[in-house]
Amino acid sequence: MNIILLGPPGAGKGTQARHLVETRNMVQLSTGDMLREAKDSGTEMGNMVADVMARGDLVTDEIVIGLIREKLEDTTEHGGFIFDGFPRTLAQATALDELLKATGKTLDHVIELRVNDDALVKRIAGRSTCGNCGEVYHDVTKPQPADGKCSKCGASDFKRRADDNEESLRNRLMEYYKKTSPLLGYYYAHDLLKRVDGLADINVVQASIEAILDA
Ligand code: ADP
Ligand code: ADP
Ligand code: ZN
Repeated sequence: MNIILLGPPGAGKGTQARHLVETRNMVQLSTGDMLREAKDSGTEMGNMVADVMARGDLVTDEIVIGLIREKLEDTTEHGGFIFDGFPRTLAQATALDELLKATGKTLDHVIELRVNDDALVKRIAGRSTCGNCGEVYHDVTKPQPADGKCSKCGASDFKRRADDNEESLRNRLMEYYKKTSPLLGYYYAHDLLKRVDGLADINVVQASIEAILDA
């Protein structure tokens, strides 16, 4: 089963994807994570996208489609792909359709996590992640353990994203409404769109997603 988690920055896509990786052996394909990795390891592509990402603009369709294409070629057995933060434009969505078709795969659900702007700002402002395993924390709703060690892996190297500041976030939200929200219509028309209240507690959102996957 292959699914897309769709929603603005801070909607909870990464948090929910990680859970599905653990419980269903699915594979998370986060173009944001891939781009940050390229940036951190200083590859040519990484250097090219660094400024764009810092501003909160979208990187080119060509780059992210290339990243996804590479991952879809992997033939290891698993519970399916979770597309997290991809596609973000109609061009990416149609490219994904083609890539899936070419590799004999289907898209089963597009799950929209609905969260309003006020909540998104609060979520992004409080977000941190474990630098070792990527576990996602929030200062208020999911605080880092008091002993300073990641609850998943025990490391004590927490990170905050450079682009999780107000100016970049405002831009990311505008990019989302302008370029990504048209995908809601696109997938609705393909009868794939499912909506989940992303404002609910993390475990409630989890249960709603599981109900969709098990239906
Ligand atoms: P968030 O978790 O806040 O939704 P991501 O980690 O998905 O953000 O993305 C971080 C940045 O990486 C984006 O602001 C954008 O610059 C770039 N990016 C990630 N995925 C894509 C994509 N599919 N298309 C274009 N740019 C992307
Ligand atoms: P995205 O990948 O969509 O950008 P994240 O999964 O990184 O979103 O979540 C953004 C922030 O919001 C994180 O700090 C995370 O701990 C927190 N968060 C995620 N889901 C919820 C939820 N249902 N309720 C409250 N906080 C949440
Ligand atoms: Zn960790």
